[in-house]
Amino acid sequence: MFKTSIFTFFACVLLGLTLMPVIAKADLNIYSHRQPFLIAPFIEAYKKMSGTQVNVVYASKGLAQRLQAEGSLSPADVILTVDIARLSVYADKGLLAPVKSSVLVSSIPKHLRDKDGKWFAFSKRARVIAVSKSSEDANKIKNYEDLADPKWKGRICSRPGSHIYNRALLASIIYKHGEEEAKNWAKSLQSNFARRPQGNDRAQVKGIKDGVCDIAIINHYYYGKLKFSEKTEHRMWADKVNLIFPNQLNRGTHINISGGGIAKYSQNKVEAQKFLEFLTSNSAQNLYASINFEYPVNVNVTLPAELESWGKFKEDQMPIGQIALLAPEAQKIIDVIGW
Ligand code: FE
Repeated sequence: MFKTSIFTFFACVLLGLTLMPVIAKADLNIYSHRQPFLIAPFIEAYKKMSGTQVNVVYASKGLAQRLQAEGSLSPADVILTVDIARLSVYADKGLLAPVKSSVLVSSIPKHLRDKDGKWFAFSKRARVIAVSKSSEDANKIKNYEDLADPKWKGRICSRPGSHIYNRALLASIIYKHGEEEAKNWAKSLQSNFARRPQGNDRAQVKGIKDGVCDIAIINHYYYGKLKFSEKTEHRMWADKVNLIFPNQLNRGTHINISGGGIAKYSQNKVEAQKFLEFLTSNSAQNLYASINFEYPVNVNVTLPAELESWGKFKEDQMPIGQIALLAPEAQKIIDVIGW
């Protein structure tokens, strides 16, 4: 009986070994806050190029907590997210491994990566001012600071201040002008609102189309999403507005990033680094633009024609990590004034 079981056991192992497909490379596991439709084309391109099996765990929230709870047993190799403050949470909790890569250092400008190599930006998103094509005076707006002018009373639409996009913008204003001035700016801006802050960035463009307001602050790529939307009404909203890239004659337009890093306990750091490097390559950088109208971080990548047609702009080159540091201060202002 015993002998038979032993025989069966070894037979099974042998059979298992013969039937097992040849897996030359280990899997790469990605924890992503970026939506699946945004991430899938990158994964496909990387799979094709490297032959690596890639798994993605997507969640809009809670991935940092999950990673922390999993500790050294976590299967995660790469973390991908949007917004510098979210990315910093991973670094602050000690969940990211420092990466030394000459490819990443040479393709990503210094203000868009962590000095210790724990996180890197892969695309840029500009916070722009959308104005109604028919409002001559609004089309002359030059700076974020101009939005505090009482002459815009009842003309500005905004999503709630505590959304990461507005919080990051306010953090950049604190960085430039200090807390007191930033608070005054936010208060004056708020007193110009046409309605209670509500909805997402797209809803602000709709606000302009509906005549509720004629000025709004939005992330630039939403304009592209609306302009090329399958829905006729969306294309109509986009058709109503011009984009202004603010602060071109001084510090430049505020930008935020999508980015990522390597999980501290990744068992596959070499492959993870290859994947991050791939994200800064010409083909991947072009994907950011073609899928979601985001700007490439790699200065050697030529801008796709559509983005190029929106105009070249100067970006605020403050170290992006400062936005994460100032985000709590920005949130305090937002809470106090009730934006
Ligand atoms: Fe967005």
